[in-house]
Amino acid sequence: MLSPPEAEAAIAREVPGAPSATLPLTGLVGRLLREAIVAERDQPPFHRVSMDGFAIASQAWDRGIREFAIVGTQAAGAPQTSLPDPEACIEIMTGAVLPGGCDCVIPVERTTNLGERIRLADDVVAKAWLNVHLQGSDSRAGDRLLDAGSVLGPAEVAVVASAGLAVATVAAEPRIMVISTGDELVEPGEPIRDWQIRRSNAYAVVAALQRRGFLKVAHDHLPDDLDVLRERLRVHLDMHDVLVLSGGVSMGKFDFIPKVLAELGVRTVFHKVAQRPGKPMWFGVRNPGKAVYALPGNPVSTLVSCIRYVVPGLDASLGKARTAPLQVVLGSDASVSADLSLFLPVTLAQDGSGRQVATPKPTRGSGDFVSLTATDGFVELVPGPRAAQAGSLVPFYAW
Ligand code: AMP
Ligand code: MG
Repeated sequence: MLSPPEAEAAIAREVPGAPSATLPLTGLVGRLLREAIVAERDQPPFHRVSMDGFAIASQAWDRGIREFAIVGTQAAGAPQTSLPDPEACIEIMTGAVLPGGCDCVIPVERTTNLGERIRLADDVVAKAWLNVHLQGSDSRAGDRLLDAGSVLGPAEVAVVASAGLAVATVAAEPRIMVISTGDELVEPGEPIRDWQIRRSNAYAVVAALQRRGFLKVAHDHLPDDLDVLRERLRVHLDMHDVLVLSGGVSMGKFDFIPKVLAELGVRTVFHKVAQRPGKPMWFGVRNPGKAVYALPGNPVSTLVSCIRYVVPGLDASLGKARTAPLQVVLGSDASVSADLSLFLPVTLAQDGSGRQVATPKPTRGSGDFVSLTATDGFVELVPGPRAAQAGSLVPFYAW
């Protein structure tokens, strides 16, 4: 049986890469860039004025001049003007081109308006390039501003736009189908009998994926019926890039999922991971381009396995570099079995010295998802024989 890190590595190795898509600027946030972005022009593209005020030649101030005739206006977005008289000034706005003959800008609030002239405050010191954002000081035309593989946050989107690009090539968002299975499950909102169970897992999985920016997520429910499973899973495999199933992968008489997936040409990469909860976790691929995660049905197992395997698997398919999980301080001792890693729900809080401390909130078993409600995520503890010690650093995964 694989350990959780081995299972994660197997997924990263086997998962098919997502195709590329070309998206407009408003569709880029959170996506993974598949091309390099090169600067169209110098940044700033000209000597950009960074204050509203008056542009002057600092040499005039050096010569003792403190009053300047206003001989023009240079607005943002207008072509460059120039100073006809080195002892005059040009009224100027933030974002304008520095006029020819000027080398600094005195902010309007540091001047007194005398009508046709301004007077500088006594304590103004005019120096070359004061309040001027020099051409090319941030980047040069042709510089590589973003590498392929960058994750696009707001700053990166601004850089793509500044390079003059209306669209960029990114990893396409996978089409994900979340499928719950089980004859006992009843849709929320529908009448339910005493012996039936609400269908909650699919909604937990959809929520975990949506929270991480995966929005092409549909869901379906299938009964424990071999023929229906065969027929519906065939269709879902054709229509989606990723299937996330819950239930039907354990040892029960009606746990048909691995068998049906094999019939549909999905190759098993692993079945079972040495973990508690969620040992029956199953993962497989079908070429070209399909990944199938079959999560155990117990609700705590489903959610931890979704976060521990589906999320990193989706990231790997996009080509995102693996980010090591946050290391947190275990707040109290926890006992771990000798052969299974433990996923232990915790709350997280900062202690006096700024360290993140995880306080264990064990559930009453893998069916007890009500106990998860006030927790922040789970820590992963390696198998015993010795108990995990309070104070040790352990990896944390947020819900
Ligand atoms: P299974 O893995 O199919 O044997 O399911 C294990 C347990 O999890 C059973 O008690 C199921 O009723 C429960 N379960 C399975 N799928 C869901 C679901 N979608 N929502 C809530 N509970 C579920
Ligand atoms: Mg079941």
